[in-house]
Amino acid sequence: MLRYDQLASRVYSERRMPEGTRDLILALGWVTLRDPRRHDPTVTTWQRTREVLNADNKRMWQLVAADAPRYEPDWESGPHGCRAPMVRVDRLCGKSTSLGFAEFDPLTGWLTHWGFCSRPRCREYAKPILERAEGSKSRAPEAIPNTGGLLPLFFAWNWEAKYHKAAELIHTIHGWVPPSYGLSADEWPEVPGQEKPKAFPKLRLVASDGEVIARQGPTLVGADRV
Ligand SMILES: [Zn+2]
Repeated sequence: MLRYDQLASRVYSERRMPEGTRDLILALGWVTLRDPRRHDPTVTTWQRTREVLNADNKRMWQLVAADAPRYEPDWESGPHGCRAPMVRVDRLCGKSTSLGFAEFDPLTGWLTHWGFCSRPRCREYAKPILERAEGSKSRAPEAIPNTGGLLPLFFAWNWEAKYHKAAELIHTIHGWVPPSYGLSADEWPEVPGQEKPKAFPKLRLVASDGEVIARQGPTLVGADRV
């Protein structure tokens, strides 16, 4: 199968991909593999991708920022009421909480929000959890990323510099630091219950300091791992 078709097919089968990331990956793939202007030395991959997407520079950096590999706690899953179970009914207490704290998972570094009401029985239930949670942050490893890291899955480029620049410009990822687990989502440790993205042969986008210096055919890295 042609490389671009392979790329598109893989992108469309990736269920977790935000649409902005999908657009950027397909555009980078098009510009590198199929675009009639791909051998034109006067236009860089970045410029041409911008043109193809009809995006201004800010939009481009927003797309890169959205893919910065990082751990995003699931704020929506936070307690919407007391988490202590009821005694005879199969549900949680659910009363409004007066005690709230976070626990960090010792394997993943991920965050769980706990909340409990002031009823003595619920406080009794909370006690061992609170004890377990105390100091859990210092014992937990660096959180395994759960967001982003898809651009480096498909393209070899100076992504670390790109994400840093995006973090300077786009406040949503202000202060971003590269995860020690790696930039590419396929390098992260598997988290129970979460499907890990499969490796894909990375297209090399030829670049120096973020500028494309030559436009030879792209090099496939690890092409045996389709
Ligand atoms: Zn309660």
